[in-house]
Amino acid sequence: MQFCPGKLSGQWTATEAGMMSPRYLTHLDPVYLQETARQIPYQRIHCDLFPAIEVWIRRDDLLDPVISGNKAYKLLFNLLEAEEQGAHTIVTCGGAWSNHIHATAAAGTRFGFRTIGIIRGERRPVLSATLQDAERLGMQLRFVRRETYRRRNEPEFLSELGLAQPGTLYIPEGGANLAGARGIQLLGQVIEETAPIDFDQLWLACGTGLTAAGLAASITRFSVCGVEVLKAGSSIQRDVEQWLKRLPKPYGAMYEPGCTSNHTEADLFLNSTYHCGGYAKNPQYLRDFQKVFECQTGIPLDPVYTAKLMYALHRESEGGRISSGSRMLVLHSGGLQGRRGFREKVLSKRLQN
Ligand SMILES: *Cc1c(COP(=O)(O)O)cnc(C)c1O
Repeated sequence: MQFCPGKLSGQWTATEAGMMSPRYLTHLDPVYLQETARQIPYQRIHCDLFPAIEVWIRRDDLLDPVISGNKAYKLLFNLLEAEEQGAHTIVTCGGAWSNHIHATAAAGTRFGFRTIGIIRGERRPVLSATLQDAERLGMQLRFVRRETYRRRNEPEFLSELGLAQPGTLYIPEGGANLAGARGIQLLGQVIEETAPIDFDQLWLACGTGLTAAGLAASITRFSVCGVEVLKAGSSIQRDVEQWLKRLPKPYGAMYEPGCTSNHTEADLFLNSTYHCGGYAKNPQYLRDFQKVFECQTGIPLDPVYTAKLMYALHRESEGGRISSGSRMLVLHSGGLQGRRGFREKVLSKRLQN
């Protein structure tokens, strides 16, 4: 059974959900984004990978084919801020397969901003598919050495690259800033409104942890469980706590004067055991799991984030570490363009052999 709150009948058949194509975000407007987010379907997952628990997935990969998943929420609120400031150029940064770079290039073209992407590492003769798309979408790429890239959060970073021009808005890597968090809080508010059943937990993949923090700061009906996809020690936990201090709860109260955060930490759990070797590492067992999941459910995952997320839920439920009968909602945070990176890597390894 699948459920879509946007449909009168409230139900999607398996075929409908399978054939569902992404919508296109056509306006830069928070009310429009909220309306579109309300149409995103929730699907019940039927397969034997999650014994004794009920699993549903919210398909934010279907929000837009290129301004995808959680990046869309973070990015659009940044673009709204750019618009307010009268900025015409967006500068941001990322790696060769960055979902955020891809989404920013696409959103820039669609909503009329010039975009500059600061890319970690040297320019290769053949660019990654992500960067090829970014250039085609009009993004100007600026490759910087890894030492330089490491200083991306320092105040002089842009001026040293000659990019601190008037009319420019800088968005940090992954869209992880306060405006981005507001976008995620909008998503959290929509999830609260549209969740088809009473869930026990919402599971999602964590990179910077901003999405987890934004959701935990806006969802009150169930707890939030973040699966860290990189070996980060305790740094994601620390960042999430910092964000939670800065974010008011819930989203609706955000603009009320004197509103302070009253978040209780019991609402958020981070799991750091499923990075599978580190960021963008894709061991054979994870590839095998992804294949089985996709075959059984018909839902595509990306290897960097959502495959590890589903794998974590699989292992935890299989190991009996989740109470039987628990009802879990999983966030599909998009990023499917990144699948191409893994095909290319496998292929180039084969060519070398
Ligand atoms: C960037 C990204 C995440 C991580 O989001 P954070 O807010 O950085 O934790 C999760 N899933 C996908 C598909 C992403 O592209």
